[in-house]
Amino acid sequence: MTTCERSAASLPWGVVRIGGGSPQPALRDRDAVVVVAGLPGLQEPDLAAALRAPTLNALIELGPSAWRAVQTAAADAPASARTPLAATTAVLPIRIPDFVDFYASLEHATNFGRIFRPSAPAVRENWRQMPVAYHGRASTVVVSGTPVRRPRGQTTPGVLAPTAQLDLEAELGYVCGPSSGGPIAIDRAEAHIFGVVLVNDWSARDIQRLEYEPLGPFLGKSFQTSMSAWITPLDALDGARVAPPAQDPPPARYLRAKDRWLLDVDLEIEINGEIVSRPSAGRLYWTPAQMLAHLTVNGARLSAGDLFASGTISGTQPHSEGSLAELFAGQRWLDDGDEVTLRGRAGAVELGEVRGRVAAA
Ligand code: CA
Repeated sequence: MTTCERSAASLPWGVVRIGGGSPQPALRDRDAVVVVAGLPGLQEPDLAAALRAPTLNALIELGPSAWRAVQTAAADAPASARTPLAATTAVLPIRIPDFVDFYASLEHATNFGRIFRPSAPAVRENWRQMPVAYHGRASTVVVSGTPVRRPRGQTTPGVLAPTAQLDLEAELGYVCGPSSGGPIAIDRAEAHIFGVVLVNDWSARDIQRLEYEPLGPFLGKSFQTSMSAWITPLDALDGARVAPPAQDPPPARYLRAKDRWLLDVDLEIEINGEIVSRPSAGRLYWTPAQMLAHLTVNGARLSAGDLFASGTISGTQPHSEGSLAELFAGQRWLDDGDEVTLRGRAGAVELGEVRGRVAAA
């Protein structure tokens, strides 16, 4: 392999501890981890400082030329810079200033409308006009492997109890690039996405059902959201781009992109070793660029490391739903001790996994 080919690598980003050491930015190369601080060619002071930080935020802020320099240096790194993945512990790779969760799957929105509002139209009028979303709780986003403690809340009116309807939501998450004032035009949105993660938006359906009208999800979601430890660079997923389904009615002008794309990521939901569903992200109604353009259209500022997620990804086929509420029609929820693992793959590119075990309330 020539140096030029190696330099084209786009390895997943993360932050690891080795032994009892401090968290350090790193790239993952299959079963090895390359800690990037101190590699030859990365001595520029701002970059060197960013690579000694305990999160990737400072590096993300430096922009694509810095990211490429690190990828190139890692591809040329000596064997001594590589550590077996199994000898490292991945930590939350970013400090997340803001977390927004969308609702971009028409199949999921339809299924949930039927479950939560059986007497009303499943999908509300505004859903096709804009990618609707809610602001999540950034400080309770945790890294894969963190247990999820069964939350308490009002599960029936006036009664505080542990949720009896703990659910998972399989989603794609997008980590934002350098900080920027809004609005961000849709055709520039791609330049503001640093990479892609898997997200499990744990949900307590009984708490959610009582609280979500009129202002949307709150305590039924905010107890914990899990994300994968490794962030796949957007350019590693060039081969996974597909054209999204047609949108009817045509969206507002600020949501019309010259080049429309989705990432065709195949997801897998596993509970206690059994695969229960295989959703695909290749048919989401709203695209990541539309989500980002909408998120900032009012002038809202984007911060490096902001996370926005697709919302639950459900398909039209049986066993392609992205939540237990849809898969099992209220007959199955998560028990204490259950372990949920979400995985994602786009062709040869593995997006890793997001895993969590349910702990008692
Ligand atoms: Ca969600």
